Amino acid sequence: MMESLRELARSYRVRIALGYVLIVTILAGAWAWSLYGPLTGTVIEQQRAHLASIARAGALALERPGLTAPTTANDLVRGTRLRATIVATDGTVLADTAEMPARMANHAGRPEVSAALAGRVGFDTRLSATTGTEQMYVAVPARFEGRLVALRVAEPVAVIAELAATARRTGFALLAVTLIAAFAVAARVSRSASQPVVRLKRAAEAMAAGDLRTPVPATTGELAGLADALGSLRDQMRARLGELEQGRDTLRAVLDGLEDAVLLFEGESVRVANAASSRMFRAPAAGWESARLAGAGLPASLTATIAGALARRSDLMTDVGPDPENRFFRVTALPLDPADRSPRMLVVISDVTATRRLDQVRRDFVANASHELKTPTAAIQLLAESATTAAEDGETEIALVFAGQMRDEADRLRHLVVDLLDLSRLESTPAPGTITDVRAALANALAAHRASAGLAGLSIRADDSAVVGLDVYVSAEPADTAVALDNLLANAIAYTEEGEAVVRVTADETTVTIAVSDTGVGIPAEHLGRVFERFYRVDGARSRMSGGTGLGLALVKHVAERSGGSVEIASTVGEGTTVTLHLPRAR
Ligand code: ADP
Repeated sequence: MMESLRELARSYRVRIALGYVLIVTILAGAWAWSLYGPLTGTVIEQQRAHLASIARAGALALERPGLTAPTTANDLVRGTRLRATIVATDGTVLADTAEMPARMANHAGRPEVSAALAGRVGFDTRLSATTGTEQMYVAVPARFEGRLVALRVAEPVAVIAELAATARRTGFALLAVTLIAAFAVAARVSRSASQPVVRLKRAAEAMAAGDLRTPVPATTGELAGLADALGSLRDQMRARLGELEQGRDTLRAVLDGLEDAVLLFEGESVRVANAASSRMFRAPAAGWESARLAGAGLPASLTATIAGALARRSDLMTDVGPDPENRFFRVTALPLDPADRSPRMLVVISDVTATRRLDQVRRDFVANASHELKTPTAAIQLLAESATTAAEDGETEIALVFAGQMRDEADRLRHLVVDLLDLSRLESTPAPGTITDVRAALANALAAHRASAGLAGLSIRADDSAVVGLDVYVSAEPADTAVALDNLLANAIAYTEEGEAVVRVTADETTVTIAVSDTGVGIPAEHLGRVFERFYRVDGARSRMSGGTGLGLALVKHVAERSGGSVEIASTVGEGTTVTLHLPRAR
């Protein structure tokens, strides 16, 4: 209550109104004060004059012959509350309208009477011995029957006071009306004076509440400067806020553009999570921002690692995995502000599954390649020693056999090295963007393999009936196409006992399809998914016998992918195999 009163007293509007009312009240008070005293004086003065003029009229009437003093006195005050007295020069009362003259004392000593008998107009106000009430007396000199007399008119002071009171009441009623009007004007003036301030206050409050769109109300006078300042403050705040929002959006875009999951923890609670967090792990139902580490749904191994880092509040970089989906993660944790009481930790989680797999593939490849190289190298060494011994023993023919076998092993070695070099080239250099004439490439490949096919008792041929009369070019490097066709034909010949190998060429608007089919041993279904892996062999002995390196189909796959195409294999054991190469058509 007290507080709200104090609040009210501080109000700008109430102060203006109070000030105004105070001024008006002081002025009105001063006016009333200045009026109160003189009013009574004026009424008395007027009444005196009034009584004097009645007395004079009475004096004139008294001079008329034939009238008695009592008659004149009675006629003079008939119908009024006045009292008339006629006093002779010696002070004897000749007539009185309120009392029998005989009962009245000598009036010569009455001040007004003595003044009238002295020829002046006399006044007095006193308690009347006759009526017992306070009276105002006015006496004038008059002539009655040739003698000087005093004609006195009296009026009860109460009547005069009543007159003054009526005048005062009217004055106070006017004052009250004036004050009410002043209050109303004060209310209006204070309202209109405080309205701009109130409007500015509301605008400032709206700004404080975050509303920077509503314009600051236009104001005139002294407050115009304040309104301008408020307006420019609002503009500045808007600009700053815009910059901040833009900065925040940029930061968010950068965060969301990252491949890695980025999580900002405050204590155990997630404060920020980027888009990758939801891609990598399922976002908690209520959103990341309201999740705690334990309920965020991260794989258990990750949760444990992060919980440890949060508890220690120290830098951390460690690999974690595999999770139930066989993924591996690298977790990097960084305390943002170690001095803070509720420490914030930045946790970055990278999915390193692919990198780890690649590392594993590389390690396997190096092991396999070393093993493949070691076999012919060891064989050559052994054969060389045997050939040397045979030559020393003079067994030239045996030495020559060993030398022949050495040449075969060296050939195998060369094959392997050539395939490895091709593989390296296909893997590490970008496609040069050249094109290949499929017909010419096919003719070359068939020519190169015709002899070995003939030796194996097989026929090899091309079937380009589907593209007769058409140019058949592919967007692939000629050397790549040659590698692919060479390996596919070599396989078809190597894994076929009898029958034939056919290369069918078809084309549509965008793709040229080269399908190499044989009538060979075929591949069991369980191996089909892996024959494109490097060094993967279905029948290792047969592959080696036929000079296979285990890299043929891997090379074909690389050729297809390097030129933006694809390859697939279909096979039925005992019936044959078809490897189909799709390459982008060039025009
Ligand atoms: P390789 O040099 O041993 O032939 P590839 O990568 O060319 O190696 O082939 C992988 C394996 O796939 C081969 O070892 C072989 O067992 C099988 N294979 C490839 N082509 C054929 C085919 N046309 N018929 C049957 N089996 C095949």
